[in-house]
Amino acid sequence: MENAKVLLIYTGGTIGMMKDNITGELRAFDFEHLNAQVPELDRLNVDLSSISFDDPIDSSDMHPKDWARIAQQIELNYNDYDGFVVLHGSDTMAFTASGLSFMLQGLRKPVILTGSQLPIGTIRTDGKENLITSIEIAASKDEKGMPLIQEVAIYFEYSLYRGNRTTKVSAKHFEAFQSPNYQELAIAGVDINYHFQNLYRTSIQDLTLFTDFEEDIALLKLYPGINMKMYAGLFDIAHTKAIVLETFGAGNAPHNKQLQDLITKFTTSGGIILNITQCASGSVQQGLYESSSFFNKAGVVNGKDLTTESALAKLMYVLGRYSSKDECIAALKRDIVGEMQP
Ligand code: ASP
Repeated sequence: MENAKVLLIYTGGTIGMMKDNITGELRAFDFEHLNAQVPELDRLNVDLSSISFDDPIDSSDMHPKDWARIAQQIELNYNDYDGFVVLHGSDTMAFTASGLSFMLQGLRKPVILTGSQLPIGTIRTDGKENLITSIEIAASKDEKGMPLIQEVAIYFEYSLYRGNRTTKVSAKHFEAFQSPNYQELAIAGVDINYHFQNLYRTSIQDLTLFTDFEEDIALLKLYPGINMKMYAGLFDIAHTKAIVLETFGAGNAPHNKQLQDLITKFTTSGGIILNITQCASGSVQQGLYESSSFFNKAGVVNGKDLTTESALAKLMYVLGRYSSKDECIAALKRDIVGEMQP
């Protein structure tokens, strides 16, 4: 059997950082440095190629336009490789994975994002295992020669997750990610144990790229005693097209007249509000409690079990793709790429 061909796309992040001897700050290094630190890469039965951002960045600087750069590289190289590994800072990796899942529809090859909590040059780094296993996953095929993973996923600390279901939960543990509402796609131990029933399969024939994302999307987290005067500007349709509203529990909000007036004015002027829960797991059930029934009347969309990262990316995609509010709302209610419960 021929070796699988995997393309590494290096964007930056801790995995490729080195300590600046003068300031002590961690700074991104070029890909050659990373390669030199992992000689094991040459021993994998994989034909590995790499490309790198000219300016590797801390993932705090990632912008939807950078997601588009990554997606375009994957589209450009799609027919020449069996799988893709994207090296990325962990801080906003869940946002990028969510964004890429909407950008790369019809994907039938693995796109595995990974990174590390410690730079790859340090002795206790988690980066080597993350990198090597991600490459192995990106190269894995079934007995018919089809890629096992055909979606955007995150591999971190022995777990493979659906990318648009993840969230970063720890700034200190190697186990930095969780997928609170969807089971892992695979667990790596002595063998990589794939959970076949959890793997996504697209019904779209060809890879289709959507990179035209709407950027005028806001995020508001409710809290007890919230003073809506401070947030009135956010509901101004002149510069906000849609808002992700993080509500309590199963999608509940305080009986706050100002909040209700702002929402009603915003939705009747063409704005879209997507209701997700601020709980780590579970789903919005609009109307279950009296404290959420107002949302149904005001046309707020039930975001079910979407993560914050996925809700933002989904709104950016949907508003970029569809022009009428009705089409946008219909798309928001659909599970598009395995991002929410059907
Ligand atoms: N600040 C880094 C980043 O997200 C942290 C990491 O790579 O894990 O780019």
